Amino acid sequence: MSCLFCKIVEKKIPSKIVYEDERVLAFEDINPQAPIHILVIPKKHISTSLEIKSDDNELVGYMVQVANNIAKEKNIAERGFRLVMNCNRESGQTVFHIHLHLFGGRIMHWPPG
Ligand code: AMP
Ligand code: ZN
Repeated sequence: MSCLFCKIVEKKIPSKIVYEDERVLAFEDINPQAPIHILVIPKKHISTSLEIKSDDNELVGYMVQVANNIAKEKNIAERGFRLVMNCNRESGQTVFHIHLHLFGGRIMHWPPG
């Protein structure tokens, strides 16, 4: 298995874990783009958002709930935060194991770059 985030799930590569349970893992992004930049991933390998099947709907909804809970714990929920899931090359996706970016702690610009 060559997937970077699967290796993080298996603890073969270290990460700064923020939250973990049997279905998801959340950890700090190694190259943060905001004061708070956390990645929420499913433990199950899904390569891109295009590969999300109807069986995964509950899991992906749960990823959003986990991100919301982390935003509340980090006191950025009321101020606002951004959730991003890139898909394929032009979006900038570099790791092909789906992840929700949770950005917060600064004003987010729109449109995104
Ligand atoms: P994306 O460009 O949407 O595929 O996002 C991949 C993210 O993974 C980037 O923000 C990277 O900084 C982050 N990343 C890559 N390697 C690691 C790592 N070992 N630990 C934590 N975050 C990582
Ligand atoms: Zn993977």
